[in-house]
Amino acid sequence: MIEQIRENLYRIEIPLPQNPLKALNSYFLRGIDRNLLIDTGFNRDECRAAIDQAIQELDFSMENTDIFITHIHSDHSGLAGYLARPETRIYTGEYTKKGLCGSSSMTTYFDDLIKQSGLMEMGLTTDVSMHPGYRYRSVPVSNLTVVQDGDIIQVGDFSLQCINTTGHAPDHMCLYDKKHKILFSGDHILGGITPNNTIWGVPWTIQVDYLAEYFKSLTIINELDIDLTLPSHRGTLTNCYERIEELKRHHDNRLNNILDILGNESMTGAEVASKMKWDIDIKSWEQFPWAQKLFAAGEALSHLTHLEFKGVITKRLQDGVVYYHK
Ligand SMILES: [Zn+2]
Ligand SMILES: [Zn+2]
Repeated sequence: MIEQIRENLYRIEIPLPQNPLKALNSYFLRGIDRNLLIDTGFNRDECRAAIDQAIQELDFSMENTDIFITHIHSDHSGLAGYLARPETRIYTGEYTKKGLCGSSSMTTYFDDLIKQSGLMEMGLTTDVSMHPGYRYRSVPVSNLTVVQDGDIIQVGDFSLQCINTTGHAPDHMCLYDKKHKILFSGDHILGGITPNNTIWGVPWTIQVDYLAEYFKSLTIINELDIDLTLPSHRGTLTNCYERIEELKRHHDNRLNNILDILGNESMTGAEVASKMKWDIDIKSWEQFPWAQKLFAAGEALSHLTHLEFKGVITKRLQDGVVYYHK
C-alpha cells in the first residue's frame, strides 16, 4: 500500500508477516537527480514483493535512488543488499555500517546474552536462527556512506538533517527537515506501540546505559520544531511532544515496577522479564515465542542496567549468569 503524504513524499507499507510490528513504513522521497528511500523491510519474499510493486507504481528505479537506513534492525535494513545497485549510496550510522558489511558477530553476542540473562536456565536454546533479525538480515553490502550527527542529505526540496538518536539502537538516526517541520523518527518515537529497548552488549560487561541514551535522545527531539512525525511503524504523529512525555512516563513506570518485582530478592534479567506486564496477546510467559522472550529479557535488562548505572541496584555473576539485587 502506498500513501502520498506531501508532494514528492510517499509512505510505502511493507508487511512484516507473523510479527507483532505488523508492517514497516518505508518512505520514498522523489528528488531531481536522485531519490531517497528511507528503510526497507526484512529480507524475505513478502517484503521484496511489496517494495518491487512500489517501485513499479511510483515509477522509479534503484539506479538513481539512494537508501537511508535508520538503524541496524533487519526490518529496516534487511533489503539494503537486495535493492542496492552499484550507483546506490546507502547512508547509515557507524554501528549500522559494521552490521551491514558483515563485520560483527551476532551469533557470539546472542549466545552470551541468552546465557548471562538467565534465559538458558529457563530453557531457551541459543539457536540464533530463531531470531527474525538474524534470519531476515541483509546480505552483506559494501557501498555504505557513514553519516554523522548534523550531516545534511539534500533530496529535491527536502533538506534532511541527520540526528543521532542512540538508545533504541546504537547510532540510530532520525532525519529532520526544518523547512517542512517533518521528522522521520525511525523506531525512536512510535505511536501505537512503545519502541523496544535492549542492551547492546552482554549484562556483565555492558559499558553503555542505553536507556539513559534513549532519554537524552528524546530530549534532543523535544527541542525541535516538528509538525509531522513519520515513524517506521504504525501511523503518523501530529504531536510528538505529547508522545515523548508518554514514553518517558512509560519507562519511569517500568523502572518502578522492576524495583517492586525485585523486592528483596536476587533475580536474573529473564526472571524479572517473566514477571513484568507485556502488551502482547499471550497469557503466560511459558507461551511466549522464542524471539518474544529474548526481546522481553532485553527490555528488562535495559532497565536493570539503567538502575545499576544510577547506583540503585547492584549485580553479581554466578556460574555465568548475572543476578540483580537492591
Ligand atoms: Zn528497531
Ligand atoms: Zn522497527
